[in-house]
Amino acid sequence: MHIGVIGAGIIGISVAYHLADRGMEVTVFDKGRPGMGSTGRANGGIRAQFTSPINVALSQRSIEVWETFEDVFETDIAYRRPGYLFLARETTTARRFQENVETQRAFDVPSTYLDPADATDICPGLSAEHFVGATYSPEDGFADPHLALQGYLAQATDLGVDICGKTAVTDIVTDGDGVVRAIETSHGTHAADFAINAAGPWATQVARFIGQTIPVSPRRRALAVLEPEVEVPDSVPLTVDVDQDTHFRPERDGNVVAGGFFDETDPDQDPDRWSESVSLDWAATLIERLSTCADYFGEDTLYRRGWAGLYAVTPDHHPIIEEASPGFINVVGFSGHGFMHSPATGQVVADLVERGETSIVDLAKLDAGRFERGDQLTERTILD
Ligand SMILES: Cc1cc2nc3c(=O)[nH]c(=O)nc-3n(C[C@H](O)[C@H](O)[C@H](O)COP(=O)(O)OP(=O)(O)OC[C@H]3O[C@@H](n4cnc5c(N)ncnc54)[C@H](O)[C@@H]3O)c2cc1C
Repeated sequence: MHIGVIGAGIIGISVAYHLADRGMEVTVFDKGRPGMGSTGRANGGIRAQFTSPINVALSQRSIEVWETFEDVFETDIAYRRPGYLFLARETTTARRFQENVETQRAFDVPSTYLDPADATDICPGLSAEHFVGATYSPEDGFADPHLALQGYLAQATDLGVDICGKTAVTDIVTDGDGVVRAIETSHGTHAADFAINAAGPWATQVARFIGQTIPVSPRRRALAVLEPEVEVPDSVPLTVDVDQDTHFRPERDGNVVAGGFFDETDPDQDPDRWSESVSLDWAATLIERLSTCADYFGEDTLYRRGWAGLYAVTPDHHPIIEEASPGFINVVGFSGHGFMHSPATGQVVADLVERGETSIVDLAKLDAGRFERGDQLTERTILD
């Protein structure tokens, strides 16, 4: 069986690795180079503090892999687990946090609801007086997406996966019954029994090759490296000020990676033509908001550098994973969770190709048709 994977981001490469590990012949096509899409721009956050059973399941199965990644893939991915700390300024947000913790505990996620004063034990610089509630899970953390991609790539290549960079997929060839037979690329046609759409923010373009319209919107999000006034210890969690839409996590040398989304509109971007630069106004707003969140930040905080990337967003912030037509699989629309969920997703898609089903998540809930049926999923902990 020959499988063509379209896209060499963390999703496509994880899928390719798992298929090859089960003995399948795999070719990955990328119009650029591996990791040059969203994967190379991600923050690396890994958490199980979600509220939907599907997101929790994808996280828990993935975290099992992240925990052993260094040994299994012989790659240090700088995986650290200081936890995620969510902060509420509004009482309605705090009430939602309490419900979230109840839901998470039912899924065996070890989150706890905290008074802001207690949260200062975990994040010593926190300006607790601005907050009314918090949740924390010590098992969350972050890793380096670039290093993780390299780990997967090395093992996939060892298993015989052919990675074709600078090779754009231009069409999918199907027979009279609509079954995938080949993948057309800028460098010729490749016979294939399966074509897997792992094209991230370009997912709608690839789905169109089989005449399918899927609701995956490329949305611009930005991150910055800041040098705070007071060094942020490595033990500080990825801290999310939910009501101000900002977050930060420790980076090397007391610096942080921070982000936030402050625009009033959030238009779809053209993934081939969008603004990659980050404005100083955005960075100033970010620092201003962080200054009321924790004492680490203030007017002397330095903006080192910033970058933007594209989330591939579905209307319910859950991915689409489905065999859309015979031999054509979508594995797209991961919003801000595609890095953390890539290990489980690779296993899910390998199950789907091999057996047509998986026990990891309920795939019947992840097809694109759910949006037309009105069967959208719900997630209460979305992060911009
Ligand atoms: C600012 C930012 C912060 C983020 N932070 C986090 C985080 O903390 N944690 C987390 O889990 N996730 C995070 N994400 C989300 C995460 O980056 C993505 O969900 C994940 O990288 C998606 O991987 P992918 O392989 O689906 O897509 P991509 O990495 O975008 O890869 C898609 C690939 O497809 C290729 N391609 C497209 N069209 C074609 C074609 N026609 N032919 C051949 N190749 C094609 C592209 O060149 C690209 O390399 C963040 C994203 C951004 C933008």
